[in-house]
Amino acid sequence: STQIQLTSRPVGTPTSENFSTVSIDLPALGPDEVRVRNEFVSVDPYMRGRMNDTKSYVPPFGLDETMTGGAVGRVVESTSDTLPVGTAVLHGYGWRDVAQAPAAQFSALPETGLSLSVFLGAAGMTGLTAYVGLKRIAGLAEGESVFISGAAGAVGSIAGQVARKLGASRVIGSAGSAEKVAVLREKYGYDDAFNYKDAPVREQLRGLTPDGIDVYFDNVGGDHLEAALDRLNTGGRVALCGAISQYNDTQRAPGPDNLSNLVTRSLRLEGFTVGQHQDLQAEFAEKMTGWLHDGSVVFDETVVDGIGNAVDAFLDMMNGANTGKMLVRI
Ligand code: NDP
Repeated sequence: STQIQLTSRPVGTPTSENFSTVSIDLPALGPDEVRVRNEFVSVDPYMRGRMNDTKSYVPPFGLDETMTGGAVGRVVESTSDTLPVGTAVLHGYGWRDVAQAPAAQFSALPETGLSLSVFLGAAGMTGLTAYVGLKRIAGLAEGESVFISGAAGAVGSIAGQVARKLGASRVIGSAGSAEKVAVLREKYGYDDAFNYKDAPVREQLRGLTPDGIDVYFDNVGGDHLEAALDRLNTGGRVALCGAISQYNDTQRAPGPDNLSNLVTRSLRLEGFTVGQHQDLQAEFAEKMTGWLHDGSVVFDETVVDGIGNAVDAFLDMMNGANTGKMLVRI
């Protein structure tokens, strides 16, 4: 099995020097085990946090150990009655081409006619994140307006469309290129969008939200969060999903300079991690596979080929090379 290991902890922006590719001989299967040929491996922003040796909601990657993360594939060898050869599975043994472990570590996936990759993106963890953040955390209601940052990425591209499904009256997004802004407007159903690199976010958001916003779905933090706090209407809610603008920082970022808005306009900010909301997974998967089948929700994938390019895929995703979900195809 070809596997990717973390060999040193990055300070600031990671480089390929922090990783190595190793070849590992897999032993014969023990009882109730499976061997899985991965088809797609996920690279995600939260993995940057796992490269640091700090306590968080997921433990850090060990040095000189194969990294883990979301993956989908098919069983190619099995001593398990529940997961026979050919079963499609979702599991946590990413960053490798072949995975082997006790069958209980793998979840069988339904045969939907969709690519298995959708269970890493639109119908998987990142899609569920969009759904949880808007529906449960922000409580987005019909007729409300919403601003979503990181709008052209895996979570953001689905969030815009889920907001529409929940009855949002106006959906505004931000992303880091003119091409992405066009995709937001033309494909993901955003009413309007801006490139945060063109001018200060505060200025651009103010221009596009004359009536304010009721909900902010925050993927970016920093200047985007400050801009949103200025624009939230009384009783507005913020779902704090991520703060990717700060993940490579070596110094702590200063806090928002306008928290007093929370007091004067009764705003509520609430963070969440999707893992704590798995109870919504079944409801979400049923709705989303329906929407994907009838074409009322669309999605993009940016696919990089070969496990040997997984590190580049991760680094490129952090730099914005992806539209929709960034995936490594094995
Ligand atoms: P994306 O597919 O959105 O990929 C990351 C994107 O971040 C890049 O494409 C890039 O797009 C953007 N980006 C990078 N640097 C900056 C910056 N300095 N300012 C603004 N944007 C930047 O990743 P995901 O959809 O997987 O994740 C999006 C967010 O959601 C992340 O913050 C992640 O941590 C969070 N998340 C949280 C979860 C939870 O449970 N709370 C679960 C899953 C994700 P661009 O070209 O627009 O700059």
